[in-house]
Amino acid sequence: MHIDEFIMNHEVSLRLGFFFGIFGVMAIWEIVAPRRTLMVSKTIRWTNNLGIVLLNTMLLRLLFPAAAVGMAVFAENNGWGLFNYLSAPFWLAVIVSVIAMDFVIYLQHVLVHAVPALWRLHRVHHADLDYDVTTGARFHPIEIILSMLLKFATIVVLGPPIVAVVIFEILLNATAMFNHSNVKIPRYIDRLLRWLVVTPDMHRVHHSVEDDEANSNFGFNLPWWDRLFGTYRDQPRGGHEAMTIGIHKYRKPKQVSWLPGMLALPFAGRITGYTINRREWNTPEETTAHEAR
Ligand SMILES: [Zn+2]
Ligand SMILES: [Zn+2]
Repeated sequence: MHIDEFIMNHEVSLRLGFFFGIFGVMAIWEIVAPRRTLMVSKTIRWTNNLGIVLLNTMLLRLLFPAAAVGMAVFAENNGWGLFNYLSAPFWLAVIVSVIAMDFVIYLQHVLVHAVPALWRLHRVHHADLDYDVTTGARFHPIEIILSMLLKFATIVVLGPPIVAVVIFEILLNATAMFNHSNVKIPRYIDRLLRWLVVTPDMHRVHHSVEDDEANSNFGFNLPWWDRLFGTYRDQPRGGHEAMTIGIHKYRKPKQVSWLPGMLALPFAGRITGYTINRREWNTPEETTAHEAR
């Protein structure tokens, strides 16, 4: 199919074009209509957050030069995966594949919050003291590598059309930059958008220092999984302007805003009460009743 050939030849420029295009739009939007005042200067944020992005991009190119698209071609050539096995209509295979890959990303996100060692990696994303377009791409290199391996596994099982993989990568990249942006969107528009896509106000709840809020709204792209699986939370208790972004225990700029600190962050500190098996499950009334006994 010639559309595959076009995509194979232009994959990198397509992805880069969308990345810089959407990054530019969101960066200007953040300056024109910001939601919150930043804690750390934009210069420090951008150099360090984009520094980790550059590092991750080079690392991925080095380790997996063919990337996810290469894996989709490999699965297709070998007849591996659901859609290389079934003869489903092309459009259906594309839609189902994009939705299924998004669901895997949701599950992965819940997992990295629940498993202590994985949370150590993922907290690099959460330790950002501010929330802007660069937060969306700020992940620890080890988490990036693990994500890629999970993506490969998903592609091998699913056998998605190559177009679906490219659409998904561009879409996820675009929505991650959109919903991490420090932009103000009128409430009624946010309400409408939330039925289709994760909005900045929806995902900001997930970046709260409050544990219950940080363990809500795991979706990156489609907003339905959180509603379906019970992890949806409408708004932060403190309000969007006053809420505190980041992680309680890690707030020193050297550790959370500068590149060397970010890279070392997964290895800092002891296991705390954050992890899922140490969390307080009882409601306050139940705790009192239990203690009274
Ligand atoms: Zn998270
Ligand atoms: Zn996030």
